[in-house]
Amino acid sequence: MMIEKQPGLKFRYSFPDFLYYSAMLAIPVVTALTAVLDRSGTAVLVYLLVLLGSVPVMLRFFCTHCPHYCREENTLKCIFFWGLPKFFRQRPGPLGVMEKSLSIAAPALVILFPVYWLVQTPGLFIIYLLSLFIFGASVRKNECPRCIYTDCPANRAQQQ
Ligand code: SF4
Repeated sequence: MMIEKQPGLKFRYSFPDFLYYSAMLAIPVVTALTAVLDRSGTAVLVYLLVLLGSVPVMLRFFCTHCPHYCREENTLKCIFFWGLPKFFRQRPGPLGVMEKSLSIAAPALVILFPVYWLVQTPGLFIIYLLSLFIFGASVRKNECPRCIYTDCPANRAQQQ
């Protein structure tokens, strides 16, 4: 059982934390949308469906196990969601194999889907790769070592 206020761990995120990571994540998303929109209006609609569809999948299969989601509050407030009503029931504890698989498959599909159109505009593809790298490295360096979601396979707090 995690002790609230345990030193070195981040128990609550602030609205500026949410804005910071949302803005950082918006860079590869807007870059990809620009590249796809440039080539195909239909593909951009499919990409938007993939993006929006990945949100409930991640919420249901990954976030419902997270302590930020399992808090006794009606809305979710963390680095990626702010004030979102909790549509799914809480599932504290480890993820099952299917939940882990879907938690990897959904973001992988979101990342890989626009690559076909991005490679046709190399400048945008480079921005896409760099912004994804900076986003991932920032979360890995700043959040994973202090994250209270110890059942997340990427958690590094227990190694500190
Ligand atoms: S911190 Fe991450 S895993 Fe936890 S609820 Fe927010 S998005 Fe989901």
